[in-house]
Amino acid sequence: ESKAAGRGRVTVFDEEMLSDKRYRRLVERELRAAVYLGELELHYQPIVGTEGSIDALEGLIRWRHPVRGLISPAEFIPIAERSTLIDMIGEWVFKRACADIGHFPGRRISINVSGEQLKRDEIVTMCERVLRETGRSASGFIIEITETVATAATPEILRRLEALRGLGFHIALDDFGTGHCGFNYLKTLPIDSVKIDRSYIRSLAHDQVAQIFVSALTQIARIQHIAIVAEGVETAEEFTLARTAGCGRFQGYFFGKPAPRDKTSALCAADGEPLALSA
Ligand code: C2E
Ligand code: MG
Ligand code: MG
Ligand code: MG
Repeated sequence: ESKAAGRGRVTVFDEEMLSDKRYRRLVERELRAAVYLGELELHYQPIVGTEGSIDALEGLIRWRHPVRGLISPAEFIPIAERSTLIDMIGEWVFKRACADIGHFPGRRISINVSGEQLKRDEIVTMCERVLRETGRSASGFIIEITETVATAATPEILRRLEALRGLGFHIALDDFGTGHCGFNYLKTLPIDSVKIDRSYIRSLAHDQVAQIFVSALTQIARIQHIAIVAEGVETAEEFTLARTAGCGRFQGYFFGKPAPRDKTSALCAADGEPLALSA
């Protein structure tokens, strides 16, 4: 039994299995087939404003495996990242988001882009092509990149981020606070928002250092015209503390768990229509 299983989560592909090259190949083949067989699903989680109304939805991928059940991205994205399979999945995600965005009037969709995808020009050409094919506008989408990608960004990666931003995408820095990202990155990176990792949100209630960190971050961000999103808000108290610290947007189980498109669409409809964004 794996360690993760002990924490109440089922690990489908454990490290030992994946260290076996043949086994890894098998999973890669299965994952490639999953794209064609329609086993991938994009679920959506609301991102809300200070009044609690939905202004964006983060697309989070899941693999509905016929035998193993619903598999979390934390399990299969790292496998996909070992090859260009991640490009194929990234394209599937963006196409799905373009097809679904009409179900969420007035809201943006935020998608996660892997650092591996940013290592190739294909990310920019793929996004352009999918926008053209679907008739969607880049301004309807936010691209989330992780802090680790940002801190290790090469000139080529920065150029691709600028190109994506030039197309009209918003760029968000995900999981801020988990890596080595300093406040100076808020000045040097082409980003529109920063998502504070949920470990900080969890600490706000009892850790003064976390409070000061988040407050400082929101003050700097305000000057740089960068929006701050609090991730992993699970309680009313965390919402209040994050808002007090200056966060302007919030995401977490307190507002809603990731859910399939139709359930999310109903949630948006019940929430009313916000100021129109061009989707
Ligand atoms: P992330 O982008 O930081 O996404 C947030 C994760 O936190 C999601 O896990 C979400 O379900 C979870 N979460 C949201 N609110 C709460 C909360 O209040 N409490 C707790 N405990 N967790 C919360 P999920 O869906 O398992 O995704 C895990 C990671 O997998 C994502 O982290 C992202 O890095 C990656 N991922 C997901 N979808 C994609 C994708 O389409 N492409 C790529 N490249 N990576 C993806
Ligand atoms: Mg994310
Ligand atoms: Mg995150
Ligand atoms: Mg995360």
